[in-house]
Amino acid sequence: MSYKQFLDKVLPLMSLSEKEVAVLSSPEHVHHAKLSVGDKKFDAWRVQYSRARGPSKGGIRYHPEVNEEEVTSLAFWMSLKCAVTDLPLGGGKGGISVNPKELSVSELEELSRAYIRAFGDFIGPNKDIPAPDVYTTPQIMAWMLDEYEKHVGHHAPGVITGKPLEVGGSKVRGIATALGGVYVLEAAISKLSNVGKRVVIQGFGNAGMTAAKLLVARGFVVVGASDSRGAVACASGLDVEALCLLKGEKKSVSEFSGEGVKVLSNSELLELDCDILVPAALEDSITESNAGAVKAKVVLELANGPTNAAADDILHNAGVLVLPDILANAGGVTVSCFEWVQNRSGDYWESDVIEAKLRKKMETAFSEIWGLYSAADKKHDFRMTTYMYSIKKVLAASHLRGKC
Ligand code: NAD
Repeated sequence: MSYKQFLDKVLPLMSLSEKEVAVLSSPEHVHHAKLSVGDKKFDAWRVQYSRARGPSKGGIRYHPEVNEEEVTSLAFWMSLKCAVTDLPLGGGKGGISVNPKELSVSELEELSRAYIRAFGDFIGPNKDIPAPDVYTTPQIMAWMLDEYEKHVGHHAPGVITGKPLEVGGSKVRGIATALGGVYVLEAAISKLSNVGKRVVIQGFGNAGMTAAKLLVARGFVVVGASDSRGAVACASGLDVEALCLLKGEKKSVSEFSGEGVKVLSNSELLELDCDILVPAALEDSITESNAGAVKAKVVLELANGPTNAAADDILHNAGVLVLPDILANAGGVTVSCFEWVQNRSGDYWESDVIEAKLRKKMETAFSEIWGLYSAADKKHDFRMTTYMYSIKKVLAASHLRGKC
């Protein structure tokens, strides 16, 4: 859903002034550049949507379908996501319209450096802090950091997060999205009665696989999993370690076999009998055509935008609690913020410190939103309550700055 469609849905629920609506409805800055690598040319963007709460923060996406509208929408969502866990950051996003699989490694490096040469004046530890997103990696962040430091002439590790540890990355960043989601899930389950431990994971990639491992270690049972090539289920629980090994060999989860294991279609997976459904793949996976068949009592959105608006209403009316993306997957940007803090102070934290800080951020956000949701007698669904909570935080900072 584009941010404009989203605003059309949420704004009527809030009594906002014209100035507040104007502040929310358009980005502060949209930068565009044409990047060259040899004879090839690529459109690239960096959007700073809101910096009311602090420097803008958001990843850089490399994908053939990247366009200004998409980057702007993603920058808007980042503004809300950073506010949910109360980070002192605004929202931004970047992207290059490119299929990185068609580039050699040296072309990829050249393109990444060209991005920083084009936008280097607009980013910085106190301005706008990029990070990885779809098809961008810690190695790409290291190239970008190096190019930025050449540009400014001094070390500046806080300009970018998601870096390898050797150049100022943070411990726990690799599992932060899933770990933050697990903390939110545990907090949610503690408020509900009779939620069992059977989990289905759609999208056994970085976030989904990590969530599966963390959940199994906490006594949950993964009864179904899928990737782009298919799905498997086992009522007594899948062997998650074995599934991870299979993925490590570039095979599909659907090639997994064992006693009681059934191969399913990707759509059957979403309808599997379970207690918790974790969409960790694509946008618009749960729609009006399958939401009615979802058996889970809780949906933990590790993916961005996996549930469409019509499906949301169906799930809410059926009593399913949807833990929305800007809360459920905010662990990633939260530990990115911790990376930025460590870079600025030069004091690097151990994993146990980071995990404790992350837990506190996620549990506080959940409990504040749950308080609003309950106080309003669940009048709005949990997603809308989360979005309104975060919009109010962005607007409070905008007010104090005299912007509305
Ligand atoms: P990834 O590429 O590592 O994993 C995605 C997985 O989804 C892959 O296993 C892929 O095969 C699978 N998939 C694709 N199409 C599918 C389909 N139709 N049915 C079932 N599975 C399908 O990506 P990731 O980093 O794990 O990100 C997954 C989602 O989480 C994305 O929406 C991303 O925006 C979101 N997210 C990730 C992070 C992070 O830190 N990794 C942070 C915030 C949000």
